[in-house]
Amino acid sequence: MKKKLRLKLPFRIILTVLAIILIVTLYFPSRSIYKLMKHDYSLLSSIAIYRADLYDELIKEDYSKTIDKFIRNKDFDIDDYETYLDIEYYDRPNFLTNTKKLLEKKYTIEDINKINAKLSDEFYQKLFDEYIYDIGKYLDVQYFKEENFERYKAYFNGNYEKTILYVNIDLDKEDYTDTTITNEFSNTILINKHHGIGEDFKVPDLTAIASDCTEDENYMSKEAAEAFEKMCRDARKQGYDILANSTYRSLEVQEGTWNYYLNLYGISYNNRYVTKPGYSEHHTGLAVDIKSAHSAVFKNSKEYPWVLENCYKYGFIHRYPESKVSITGISSETWHFRYVGEEIAKYIYENGLSYEEYYAMFLDK
Ligand SMILES: [Zn+2]
Repeated sequence: MKKKLRLKLPFRIILTVLAIILIVTLYFPSRSIYKLMKHDYSLLSSIAIYRADLYDELIKEDYSKTIDKFIRNKDFDIDDYETYLDIEYYDRPNFLTNTKKLLEKKYTIEDINKINAKLSDEFYQKLFDEYIYDIGKYLDVQYFKEENFERYKAYFNGNYEKTILYVNIDLDKEDYTDTTITNEFSNTILINKHHGIGEDFKVPDLTAIASDCTEDENYMSKEAAEAFEKMCRDARKQGYDILANSTYRSLEVQEGTWNYYLNLYGISYNNRYVTKPGYSEHHTGLAVDIKSAHSAVFKNSKEYPWVLENCYKYGFIHRYPESKVSITGISSETWHFRYVGEEIAKYIYENGLSYEEYYAMFLDK
């Protein structure tokens, strides 16, 4: 006869009660944890959230990667969970430590998010050393460069965007000091009193301008020469006669010009009216001084307004307008035009920019 294994009644009751307790205590947390995981939190973070009693608070908020990453970290202050909910996570070294220090320094959450997004690891120390109350305003400007930060502060003119743009253009520097030198030709090269050419600089394809568009022999880079000829011939069809007056100048020629006027009138004249060798846009083969075939003074010719209104269609910009003297550092030159290509020329024309501004906004990385 088989002996049935049967537990005695009291035992069965005790086991049942234990089972119910087990199911209840396991079911509810596992349900919460399951829901947190459905909310994108990792298993371990979900358990930590549950154990920290933050389930009710966090389940109704958007998923926070910052909390997910740091809730199990010993340096994470559970009491500050609401703050961390608004702090965007960035995968970078010492993220939690740096963020904590910024919070202690009373930076706003908005600023902390910008700082973590944009500044290098090295910059944090500056933010810890002193409270930079307006760092967010600087960081809002797209062209902000952290290596120029001290210069921005020194130059500050009340407008963050203009301060940043003008310092990036080097307007805080003396003319011809601490200049950037390039030996590389391109249609977008910037040459001014802060950007010069080196001794190895060469215009790769100097081309003579066709004789119907110039009186003397004048050379430009091939693309610029062709664009100028097109403009000159289109203008003629409409009754306007323009000619290239002065285009490419070698370093030696500009040296001759510089020395000639230096001997004649002295350095202060030169600083105002003559460009130092190496810093003239005429070295690039992209600049052209235009003259009218009918009038000795270009500004008074009927050609001048025509060129101003139409040159962008051929890739040229009016390089030194009266309104931009403080930025270009060159007195108004009605006759000087610069080839930059049609797309850039159109943008500059439509937005009333100087080439320095355009360069700082879009090309200076
Ligand atoms: Zn010129």
